[in-house]
Amino acid sequence: MNATVGIPQALLFYKYYPLWETFLKELGVDIVVSNPTTKKIVNSGTSLAENELCLPVKIFFGHLVDLKDRVDAIFVPRVVSVERGTYTCPKFLGLPDLARSLDTQLPKILDPVFNSRLGRKRFYESIFDFGKQFTKSKFRIWRAWMAGVSAQKAYQKKLLAGATPIEAIADEQVSTNNGDLKIGLAGHPYNVHDPYINLNLIKKLKKWGVSVATEEMIPPKILEHEANRLPKRLFWSYEREVVGAAFHWMRNKSVDGIIYILSFACGQDSLIQVLLESEAKKRKSVPLMSLVIDEHSGEAGMITRVEAFIDMLRWRAV
Ligand code: SF4
Repeated sequence: MNATVGIPQALLFYKYYPLWETFLKELGVDIVVSNPTTKKIVNSGTSLAENELCLPVKIFFGHLVDLKDRVDAIFVPRVVSVERGTYTCPKFLGLPDLARSLDTQLPKILDPVFNSRLGRKRFYESIFDFGKQFTKSKFRIWRAWMAGVSAQKAYQKKLLAGATPIEAIADEQVSTNNGDLKIGLAGHPYNVHDPYINLNLIKKLKKWGVSVATEEMIPPKILEHEANRLPKRLFWSYEREVVGAAFHWMRNKSVDGIIYILSFACGQDSLIQVLLESEAKKRKSVPLMSLVIDEHSGEAGMITRVEAFIDMLRWRAV
């Protein structure tokens, strides 16, 4: 019987699920994805986590709990670096250790290391080391990895064409995205695309007649080029993408406004917030609103603020 491996529907799930799913399936593993985030998942994660942790990591813990009695192992990769010369958030570097330290009985944690800083050879060695748990055949591991890479490319193509990660993963039709206003949603993909975290913001905006742009709809080369306009290179990859998207929208005025969704207790987000606010002030091209979220964020307060922002944008456009 095949091993059953759980993949938490949180954090980097929104970036790499097709890669991870295909790679593991091709290695002969059955996949179980945790349920979409709910209040129960948030509460169970929050009760296990240190208070100072950011909400997305607390929610990730809740997804581990959601999976724990249904699988033989849980996939929690250690994503150190995804391009040379950069790092990811320190929480991603230590995520398997954080999971193992939780005061709850979890199944085995599978923690392949993804670290581009070590160069191609060592990167692939760590893929082979991980794959060896499932097959002795190096060729099969390589073939599984390449199948994952091609699934990931197909996924990114759908995102570029306007699908949300959830739509692209479920192979659903792209939801309508036409409105008299267009708002760019900047932020980490798990904040922008987990409807529970952001109180279903994308759906609400579309209902209010606003179309939505996200960083996934911008080609990576453009994100890179825009992020390079910072006087000092940011060494966190995912934050470079957030900055790249917002700078792109501000420079070519392709949106009417930008909402930056950030997590309370996230050091990177606090820094990016300052950078974006200062660029918005300097350019005076596209209004920017920051929406800070934590486990206590209330829907009524968020709706009032976003509606006021939209009213201001509509008034500005007259
Ligand atoms: S980047 Fe911020 S929000 Fe994301 S995991 Fe790290 S600390 Fe949490």
